[in-house]
Amino acid sequence: MQSNLLLHTCCAICLLNFLNSLRETFKITIFYYNPNIHPFQEYEKRLKAVEKLSWLKNLELIIPIYTPISFLNKIKDYRKEKEGGKRCEICFQIRLEKTAQFAKDNNFHYFSTTLISSPQKNKDLIDAFGNKIAKEKKVNYFTLKEIFLVKKEEIKKLNIYSQKYCGCIYSFY
Ligand code: SF4
Repeated sequence: MQSNLLLHTCCAICLLNFLNSLRETFKITIFYYNPNIHPFQEYEKRLKAVEKLSWLKNLELIIPIYTPISFLNKIKDYRKEKEGGKRCEICFQIRLEKTAQFAKDNNFHYFSTTLISSPQKNKDLIDAFGNKIAKEKKVNYFTLKEIFLVKKEEIKKLNIYSQKYCGCIYSFY
């Protein structure tokens, strides 16, 4: 039987990179949980792009409730941190924890995140959080061995929305 993978997806471009780098075979379900994204219009733009790609790639898509207030409360003490600092660590963990819990509750073999396929993110750090959360929640974390970025021409051909900033209000200004 094919293993199933619950894949936290931050945006369509990172999803493309993740799929382009995947050498294993899974039944993938997309999990668009991103309470960090500000404003709501941007959240929707990225969601629409993920919906389009899920449809093109024939992948199931799960969209949990958008909870920006709870996210802002959790990171409020770190709003002045530079991108890549403590605020981002909390942001990664919030999204990974929710994905791991959903994977466990719904009998997925693995969970992972497209955050690891972004050239702007620290893959080793995200993998370390993924492995820690996997141990705590007793569900397997999957990571990619190497990242192969999708060519710009391909993204252009697919006409997929590509965002200009990481996501939260502090990365927006
Ligand atoms: S900069 Fe990006 S990773 Fe860091 S807190 Fe904001 S949305 Fe999350």
